[in-house]
Amino acid sequence: MLRGSCLCKRITFETDATPKGVSMCHCGQCRKQSGGIWSSAFVAETDLTVTGPVAWYEASPIAKRGSCPTCGSFLFWKAHAEDTISFSLGAIDGPTGLTLEKHIFVADKGDYYQIADGLPQKEQ
Ligand SMILES: [Zn+2]
Repeated sequence: MLRGSCLCKRITFETDATPKGVSMCHCGQCRKQSGGIWSSAFVAETDLTVTGPVAWYEASPIAKRGSCPTCGSFLFWKAHAEDTISFSLGAIDGPTGLTLEKHIFVADKGDYYQIADGLPQKEQ
C-alpha cells in the first residue's frame, strides 16, 4: 500500500497496485508546475483512490494536471486517451519502495544541472 498527500493534507491518495513507469520528467510543463523535475509513477486509474478537492488544469489538449487548490501541490497527471494516472512520488508519505527507471523529455530540461545517474534518457 502506497499512501500520498499534498502539503496541507486536504488531498490524500492511495493504491494497492504496483506502480510502473517510475520516471523523472524534465518537460517545460512539469518544470513550471513543479518548480523543477517531476518524479512520478503510474497505476490504472481504477486502482488509485483519491479524496479531496483536486483542481484539474489542462495545459494541453491531451492531458490534465491535478493539484491542490489550497497548497498548490502538483499531484496527478492524466492523459485523456489512457486509462492510467500518474501520481507524484514526492507526495508519497514514507518510503516508496520504488526505483527510478528513466528520465523523460530531457530535450526540454533546464540548463542548470546535468543528469549523471546513467539511467536511460528519452528526448521526448
Ligand atoms: Zn493541499
